[in-house]
Amino acid sequence: MKCTACGSAALIEGTVRDSNTSVIQFYPSDVSTLKTILGFAVGGRPVRAYGCLHCHNLQIAVDFNESDLERYQQFEGEQPDVLERINSNPKKVEG
Ligand SMILES: [Zn+2]
Repeated sequence: MKCTACGSAALIEGTVRDSNTSVIQFYPSDVSTLKTILGFAVGGRPVRAYGCLHCHNLQIAVDFNESDLERYQQFEGEQPDVLERINSNPKKVEG
C-alpha cells in the first residue's frame, strides 16, 4: 500500500482507538443500527490504519470479508478494485 497523499510507501500500520482504547469499526450505511442490535446483520468490519512517515497523512482501510465482496459486487456496477480481486483466482499460481 502507498500513501494516498504523497505516494510514499513508508507507511506504519496500526489501529485507531479512542481514549477508552476501543478500536473503531466500519459499518456499511445500508445496515441499520436496529438490525445490528437485533442480530439480523453482521457487526462492524475491522479497520486498519496507516500513518505516513513522509507527510503524516493518516489513511484507513476496511477488512471486508468474502460475503461482503460477493454482496456488494452483486448490487454495485463499478468497483474495479473489488472486481479485479474477485476475478483473479487465488488458487491458481502462475510461474
Ligand atoms: Zn504521505
